Amino acid sequence: MTRLFAAAALLPAGLAYDVSIDIEHGQIASVEQGSSPATADERHALLAPAVPNLHSHAFQRAMAGLAETRGPGADSFWSWRTQMYRFALSMTPDDVEAVAAQLYVEMLEAGFSRVGEFHYLHHDIDGRPYANIAEMAERIAAASAEAGIGLTLLPVFYAHAGFGPKPPIEGQRRFVNDTSRFAELVAASRRAVRGLERAVVGIAPHSLRAATIEEIREILPLAEEQPVHIHVAEQLLEVEDCIEATGARPVELLLANTPVDQHWCLIHATHLTADEVAGIAASGAVAGLCPITEANLGDGIFCGEAFVAQGGRLGVGSDSNVQISLAGELRQLEYSQRLAQRSRNVIASSGQSTAVELLNRAGQGGAQALGVGSGIAAGNPADLVSFAPAGAPYLPLADQLDAFVFASGISVDDVWVGGKKQVIGGKHVKSDAIRRRFESTMRRLLGA
Ligand code: ZN
Repeated sequence: MTRLFAAAALLPAGLAYDVSIDIEHGQIASVEQGSSPATADERHALLAPAVPNLHSHAFQRAMAGLAETRGPGADSFWSWRTQMYRFALSMTPDDVEAVAAQLYVEMLEAGFSRVGEFHYLHHDIDGRPYANIAEMAERIAAASAEAGIGLTLLPVFYAHAGFGPKPPIEGQRRFVNDTSRFAELVAASRRAVRGLERAVVGIAPHSLRAATIEEIREILPLAEEQPVHIHVAEQLLEVEDCIEATGARPVELLLANTPVDQHWCLIHATHLTADEVAGIAASGAVAGLCPITEANLGDGIFCGEAFVAQGGRLGVGSDSNVQISLAGELRQLEYSQRLAQRSRNVIASSGQSTAVELLNRAGQGGAQALGVGSGIAAGNPADLVSFAPAGAPYLPLADQLDAFVFASGISVDDVWVGGKKQVIGGKHVKSDAIRRRFESTMRRLLGA
């Protein structure tokens, strides 16, 4: 058993002081407030639950920073996607594993403890399935095992290029399955994660563009009560195409025709009517927000204030992985609300620290979306983060989480996943070897 003592710790009810945490078999065995440290205790100034990253496409980490030059016309999500398909079509299983391992190291160093890998790069470069249909899923599992991040693997069902449905285009050949081959892929994905501690496998119909309502209903039993994730209402064009093809808006269509509940996570949900906001909040599903990517791609702004006011649950993900920053995702989420509302401290309730509110919401919502428990409480996995106040040692403990998210001077120190320390002093324990392999992979991919 390990015992940690923290001068302050973020518990489900808020910040508490002089907290002892016992960890046994990777789980939190007990939590005591107002305690005194014993000589053998490992001491920390400030502890919080590490946060699940609920939405990632690992291979896209390879193109981070490579799509920021303006093209000949107006740039949009759709021109970015053309660039992204170029990378998607060139990467081998070795490349994907090297890039994913580096990405997962960066996530852990940022304070994330688990990743929801929305995995759609299934097949070989020519579009034919690998001899092992779960070859790529196994590479994701291997990367997560090497980095030591918790994995919720979400094999993606992708069948069409658009509403109608339109047949898939050439650039989508590595993503596509029919429903029966998808069932094989889900079963093989479950086998692929068997050796991983606390791994979860759910399913992810890619979007209403890529999967029809009938297909979604057909594959839903494959989730076996585990998470169901879907991209929805990210782009206005997608909303318009959906209305034209079906007479309904994407979220409206989904809520009316599928059993959206607490197992579901609606990724982006950017463009919503008041009825759709209320509908998602009432369903118990999590809104999976990816604030940095949504800003990078010019998607739009989620209506956070109304959603939270109606009891809506939310979490954050890094989606395109253009930048990996827990503080950055939370800050961008809050700042987008401030800019839209021309107001301050929008997500927090009265008298509450905004960082505490954001960390608690993203922790609980992220864990629900990824099918695990979260929070510093007995019975939950010991997924924790400690902070170092090196640049602002004068700050009171009560203000350090706000400084972590909104200012500077407070950084991630140690990160535990299932009670095992994967980041020490801000650096992942295997970062050097994983980075060397990643850099040589990138040089080859870029022909440099
Ligand atoms: Zn995505």
